[in-house]
Amino acid sequence: MIYFVSSFNLLNQPLIFMEKATRQQTRDHNRRLVLRTIFNGGEISRADIARITGLTRPTVSNLVGELLESELVIETGQGPSVGGKRPTLLSIHADGRYLLALDLSGDEFRALLVNLKGEAKFRANLPATETGGEAGLEVIYRLIETVLAETDFPLLGIGVATPGLVDPDNGVILRSVNLGWTDLPLRQLLEARFGYPVYVANDSHMAALAEYTYGDPLDSDNLIVIRVGRGIGAGIILGGHPFYGDGFGAGEIGHVVINPGGDLCSCGNRGCLETTSSIRAILNKARAADRSKSWLAGSEPLTWQRFQAAVAGHDPLATDIAVNAGRYLGVAIAGLVGAFNIRNMILVGRLSDLNGAFLDAVVTETHQRVLPAMAQATNVRFSSLSSHHAADIVMLGCSALILNRELGIA
Ligand SMILES: [Zn+2]
Repeated sequence: MIYFVSSFNLLNQPLIFMEKATRQQTRDHNRRLVLRTIFNGGEISRADIARITGLTRPTVSNLVGELLESELVIETGQGPSVGGKRPTLLSIHADGRYLLALDLSGDEFRALLVNLKGEAKFRANLPATETGGEAGLEVIYRLIETVLAETDFPLLGIGVATPGLVDPDNGVILRSVNLGWTDLPLRQLLEARFGYPVYVANDSHMAALAEYTYGDPLDSDNLIVIRVGRGIGAGIILGGHPFYGDGFGAGEIGHVVINPGGDLCSCGNRGCLETTSSIRAILNKARAADRSKSWLAGSEPLTWQRFQAAVAGHDPLATDIAVNAGRYLGVAIAGLVGAFNIRNMILVGRLSDLNGAFLDAVVTETHQRVLPAMAQATNVRFSSLSSHHAADIVMLGCSALILNRELGIA
């Protein structure tokens, strides 16, 4: 890295400090590069790291020495000889650091402790309070305290994902209707209380980051994840990074009116996507329908599991309601296809429990509403993450964010 410094500099610092700062930056950059190469390589020798990164052998050995000392990397054995002595292999020290991720998007606040390889080490859930606000904050504190009491390993950071508008640069929740927060400086509060680096982000944005990082490899660096659960939101990845939008609301499709004059929404409008296609909306429609001739007859209270089983069993009423919800979702997705022309549109969240009839309705409606050439090139599908991982998708996204920001990997 080269800085051009004029005869005076605005920082009013002697030139030598500038040079030192630059050397330090280069060193940090190279250390991240070596760590990322080991992370991606699984098991790799120093020689291969030098070959891949273009750094000299002595530089690599030096940086690997630092990484071994900080316990981010371990020596795992010896690789096959390529003519000389057998090379020592290096890999990420899975338990060298832990990451704590919180998901505030469900009926319960959930916490997951994972190691550097994303393996779950401990989890805890607490009921989210109905009132939110200060009480909701107390639940977050208790949840973090519970997890910290269970770990002796060094913690790399804490990531929190919440519904609503979040400024991830400053860690401020600007507005979360469900949780009753406005301009809550969550990063500042948690860093002051626990002393670890804290990242705060929107739940759908983190679901998209998890799908991008841990899902099946894609043929593109762009991706849109549509998450349907308690609410509905989309997360947009552009060029491998979350796209937040000018006001951090990119992908807030849940309160876009899709059925004018439709049902009243919690936001005060009528006919928002959340009134046609959220889990709550679907169950409300089923409860209001005449269920006497359906599989849903007599099920009180009508649960999501019951509804899902009825759709799986081809019950006409349940299928009809699911297909209708899918069509409205397809209208919203067609808007995203037209705006972004992103090939991979992935559905995640509890709506993924529904079977093919629902997905067919989404795909058909999406395709009917965009240019045929774009429709053909668009792939609307369910997440490739296993159901176990899918339940943790928001927290996995948080851990990817921490890894990326703190270590430059993932
Ligand atoms: Zn609304």
